[in-house]
Amino acid sequence: MAILDAKIPEGPLAQKWTNHKAKIKVVSPANKKKLDIIVVGTGLAGGAAAASLANLGYNVKAFCYQDSARRAHSIAAQGGINAAKNYQNDNDSIFRLFYDTIKGGDYRGREANTYRLAEVSPAIIDQCVAQGVPFAREYGGTLANRSFGGVLVSRTFYARGQTGQQLLLGAYAAMNREIGRGHIKMYDRQEMMEVVIENGKAVGIITRNLVTGELERHGGHAVLVATGGYGNVFFLSTNAMGCNGGAAMRIYKKGAHFANPCFVQIHPTCIPVHGDQQSKLTLMSESLRNDGRVWVPKKKEDAEKLRRGEMKATDIPEEDRDFYLERRYPSYGNLVPRDVASRAAKERCDAGYGVNDTGQAVFLDFKYAIDEYGLDVIKARYGNLFQMYEKITDVDPYEYPMMIYPAIHYTMGGVWVDYNLMTTVPGLYCLGEANFSDHGANRLGASALMQGLADGYFVIPYTVGDYLADEIQTPTPDVNSAAFLQAEEETKARIEKLFSINGTQTVDHFHKELGHIMWEYVGMARNEAGLKTAIEKIQKLRKEFWSDLRIPGDKTGMNTELEKAVRVAEFIDLGELMAYDALNRNESCGGHYREESVTEDGEAKRDDENFAYGAVWEYTGEGKEPILHKEEFKFENVKLTQRSYK
Ligand SMILES: Cc1cc2nc3c(=O)[nH]c(=O)nc-3n(C[C@H](O)[C@H](O)[C@H](O)COP(=O)(O)OP(=O)(O)OC[C@H]3O[C@@H](n4cnc5c(N)ncnc54)[C@H](O)[C@@H]3O)c2cc1C
Repeated sequence: MAILDAKIPEGPLAQKWTNHKAKIKVVSPANKKKLDIIVVGTGLAGGAAAASLANLGYNVKAFCYQDSARRAHSIAAQGGINAAKNYQNDNDSIFRLFYDTIKGGDYRGREANTYRLAEVSPAIIDQCVAQGVPFAREYGGTLANRSFGGVLVSRTFYARGQTGQQLLLGAYAAMNREIGRGHIKMYDRQEMMEVVIENGKAVGIITRNLVTGELERHGGHAVLVATGGYGNVFFLSTNAMGCNGGAAMRIYKKGAHFANPCFVQIHPTCIPVHGDQQSKLTLMSESLRNDGRVWVPKKKEDAEKLRRGEMKATDIPEEDRDFYLERRYPSYGNLVPRDVASRAAKERCDAGYGVNDTGQAVFLDFKYAIDEYGLDVIKARYGNLFQMYEKITDVDPYEYPMMIYPAIHYTMGGVWVDYNLMTTVPGLYCLGEANFSDHGANRLGASALMQGLADGYFVIPYTVGDYLADEIQTPTPDVNSAAFLQAEEETKARIEKLFSINGTQTVDHFHKELGHIMWEYVGMARNEAGLKTAIEKIQKLRKEFWSDLRIPGDKTGMNTELEKAVRVAEFIDLGELMAYDALNRNESCGGHYREESVTEDGEAKRDDENFAYGAVWEYTGEGKEPILHKEEFKFENVKLTQRSYK
């Protein structure tokens, strides 16, 4: 069992990172050339890391499963990226960003990491501007900002509704420069299937070439996993269809512990589910809550008429509209954090006020903003998002309010890492959404891009040196060693096993089943009986998967069904782990809402005495209950209070 040592530096909060950087080891330029680093994932976290490390002189091998690094899911990010620049002169500061983030996460994150995130945030914007990222600007040329949920200042930088795309193009350009200089070797269409561990250290990975089907062995002095989040465990989510938790689960099974897996973010503004055959949900960016007002009818009979198609939103007079977020949370109004807004929507819909035919939708209305600012201003701010909404729903949101409902969006849980972003396996790091990160039990909007780029551009380039300084005499790992051959054999056997089942059901069948179980019992509201049921159902589903799955085609060459099967096998194990974690955490916090732990007015009720820790799970073998370790979170700079947005 690895001992959890978060390696939080000594000293006052604001000095920790500076002190740490001053003390950790540095690798000389001549020695950097001798060291190989594997980076799995080329989204914002992995792409930024690969470019920065290569620029420092390390030999980087970067991997992604898409046909190009620039197709990582990060490209889908719409709304923006936070940074404590205080450009609006609205009293923002590093401390305020730190405070908002730790409070927004319901005090279930590590203070030192969260502070560092806020501290490096201004540098991210400078770096991206220097790369040419076209952030929105004010008339005079200064960078523009908007607000996101859970904060009272405007600190979100954006490039229309395409912030992730523009940031990724910046990172991708930086990577390409290093590819051109021979410092990065890019392997696309390669899926990491296994991590190789030798003498207790990560020394490489086994990949599957998704075009030829061949397995490959790759060695490195350090392995960085930046493979994104696992929201697709729910089948339907706002994530790209390929997003998966496979690599995170493989390293978990090889000794990297997994923290807070049940902390999942449900985003309040998604286009509602519209049928059984749907495979993906679409996010409407949170930035829309800057100007859109959320409401449902005050009268149940109006809601019923809306559901039957006998009435339209525009027929409901002003006085019969319930702007329930403004009513319940007057100080934050429509900009309450995501977990609060999601639960409030569910509460209204469960009470019978839902506005679409399934009763699972609320309105997001721009009429008021159009009246105030004019159509042109709203078009300039959100034009592409409105166009996307209209294309999907065939409803013009300039004329008629959008319908929205919460959906799975982001995973705060992930691989446990220390302050250096190292997992419990020496030499194995985890970055970006894949790690358990800095967001506690609930991530604030526009903070994921900030964290991915902080990890990639400004944290790992420093901290990896502390480990690699002791590896300069170590030759590049031999990919013909017993450890590599064994890892490859195990991977081959796993693929053979999947093929040999030769059952009757498709991968999607099992994935959908898993999604139903997760949404029903490990979704927006959770309770003890439901979580126990979920564990039983998932275990049963695992048996069915391994006895009745059918993968058509061949294992050599391209086979997308095989790719999905490999990922769904891990999702099943991950779903079970999430249920164990949710069952253990008998308190409500952030996105984790236990029905047994609720305040009188229906808000999430934390139990700081018993649960102010990160739940860190150790794998114990197939089908066996994992072991729980605890990282107690110490709060020396913030006072734990009941989160209130009233
Ligand atoms: C629709 C949407 C909108 C969003 N908008 C915002 C926003 O406005 N602001 C914000 O801050 N956040 C936003 N987010 C969240 C944010 O986009 C993500 O958290 C972030 O981009 C994740 O970056 P990443 O680098 O960690 O992972 P990703 O971008 O998901 O990249 C993962 C990489 O890992 C690779 N990979 C995965 N598994 C393997 C494997 N086994 N082998 C090889 N490669 C692998 C992939 O190929 C990819 O390159 C949004 C999320 C969604 C779903």
